[in-house]
This record gives sequence, C-alpha cells and structure tokens, in this order.
Amino acid sequence: MTIGEHDLAFLVALTQAPSPSGYEQPAAQLLRERLALSANTVKTDVLGSVHGILCGTHPEGVSVLLAGHIDQVGYIVTHIDDEGFIAFTEIGGLDPGVLPGTELDIHTTRGPVRGVVGRNPIHGLDPHSDEYLKVTPYHKLFIDVGFGVVQAKERIAIGDPITFVSKFTVLGGSRVAAQAFDNKVGAWVAVRVLEEVKAAGGAAGDVIVAGTVQEEIGLRGAVASGYSQNPQIAIAFETGVATDYPSVDKRRFGDFSLGKGPHIARGANISPVLFKLLVATAAKEQIPYQVRAIPCATPTDANTLQLTKGGKATALISVPTRYMHTPFEVLDLDDVEKTVRLVTRFILSLEPGLDLTPW
Ligand SMILES: [Zn+2]
Repeated sequence: MTIGEHDLAFLVALTQAPSPSGYEQPAAQLLRERLALSANTVKTDVLGSVHGILCGTHPEGVSVLLAGHIDQVGYIVTHIDDEGFIAFTEIGGLDPGVLPGTELDIHTTRGPVRGVVGRNPIHGLDPHSDEYLKVTPYHKLFIDVGFGVVQAKERIAIGDPITFVSKFTVLGGSRVAAQAFDNKVGAWVAVRVLEEVKAAGGAAGDVIVAGTVQEEIGLRGAVASGYSQNPQIAIAFETGVATDYPSVDKRRFGDFSLGKGPHIARGANISPVLFKLLVATAAKEQIPYQVRAIPCATPTDANTLQLTKGGKATALISVPTRYMHTPFEVLDLDDVEKTVRLVTRFILSLEPGLDLTPW
C-alpha cells in the first residue's frame, strides 16, 4: 500500500485548511466530506469535533475510537494600532523566534489578508542589544498588512485567527514539509484506517474516527468525544518528535528518526494490553516501529481519553516529525503509510469480547 494521488491530495488540503484551536471549521468540513464516503454516520458535536462511525459486524466486537485532532497552533489578532499595524499572540505553544521576516495570513470573515512580520533592518540594529541577541517576544512583534488604520480596522477584526503561509513542499525521497502536519496527518491517518478497515470487510467492533478540536490548548475536544462516543479502546494519532537532525541531545530526547516507522508510546497513559498487541501486530506484519517512553500523562488526546467515564484503554501512535510547531514540519510519507497499515491490521485482529484489563 502506497499513498495514492487522491489520498495525498486530501493530506495536502488538510494542511492548507487554516484551523487554529477554536477555529477548526475549514478542517472539519474537509473531514466530513471525506468521511461521508465511507462511514455509516458522520456527525459534528457542539464543540466542532467530527465523528464518523463505521459500524461493527459482531455484537461483542470491541469498539475503537481513532482520535486525530484537527486544530493546529496559530495566532490571534489582539489589537490594531493607530498606524494600522496588527498586534497578535499565539494560539497554542509557538516559538516567536520563527516569525520575524515571514508571511502570515489573517483569516477574516471576508477572506484572508496577507501580512508580513516586520523586523528592524540590520543597518539599524545595535549588535549588543536584546533585539539583536534575543528572541523578540510576541508583544513586541507586529504584522504589517499594508493598510492604514481605517482600512485595517475595516478588513480585520479583533479575534481573527492567523496562520503561516507556508505551502506543502515535496523534499527528497519520500520526505515532505508543510505547516500543521501536527496534527492534520493524525486526522488523515484516522480516516485512512477507517477506509482500509471498511475495504477489508469491516471490523468486529465499531470504528469511530474523532476529528477532535482544541487539542493544542488543553486536550479539550477529546474530553467531550470520549464521553459521547464511549469506546472501549481509544487510540490517539499524533506527530511525535524526531531527533535525527543536528543539535538534538538524544540522551535527553531519545533516538527517533524519520523513515523508521511510527512511534508507539509506552508508559502510564498507555494500556499495557494495547501496547503488547500493537507491538505483536507490528512484528507479525513486519512493520518497523520506535518505542517512545512517556512516564506521565502524554500531552495528547490520549491523556483525557484515558480518564473518560470509567476509564478507557488508550494508546498513542505518532508519525515522527521534525520541527514541530514551525512553518515547515518535516515527515516521511513512508512512516505515514506504515502507521495506517499497523493500526488497520491491529483493529482487524481484535477478538470480540477481548478483555482489556491489565493483569
Ligand atoms: Zn498535536
């Protein structure tokens, strides 16, 4: 199974759909349209999370929720000054160091307004100043949209969301770069797994895709999705840090490479039963994988999903990704395809009535 043109176009479209936390509607729309082709039901909850269900074939089939958050990190307009410059701050965790000299799109009710993040030219910078030596904080950054104050206020509203302009870019081999692979690739994987399970004749239990909202600001959508969908198993798909580029301390952050298969997380947030089954599936199907130790609650939807109602058996599977939360996140499409295959085979192998209690 390689990633076909049609499926790749869906991934590209997701990465280009502007959807900072709280403003996920463009990504939700794409997810609904795609799920409508394969799921038995597609519904959107009041927070904006999308749920697509492929019904199981056995009365005791184990239900599996596949969570891929559809929000992304971004920015928000906080103020328009008397000269028409735009003040803004972050939605989610973003390093302001990536911003000076870049383009941003402000998403207004009348469409995007392009702007650039201004920066003092080298000619006027004192080489001993903080401005030269340190990262400029958000409250000192500004967006220049070219308008004066009257036009700026006419076009742009306080609270409008902002995203990078960076486009989906094909690099060498099967590597690609784009903004918001975190976590459009996770949502994409969830949909593709449902489609592959359906193509294989369906699973014993329900398979539920949850395109969750507001993950980047506190794993919020998944709280409601876990409760409303109430699955027996919940798997969160994510991007996971790769450490295979210069300057990363592997003793500190682990040894994770692009092209060596998905991360399977292990630790308190992960059901030991699911971990064992996933690793066994990978071995049987000869799919490479990388184990990622996470000793505490993971900063992912798996965290809140695990604690839903009486508790859920949770797993976390991540596509290794470089430079997360920057304008160009880099991953390997080969890892993406392997993630789909691993979880599809895992779901198809689940026995009806499976006991998920750790013994
Ligand atoms: Zn994420």
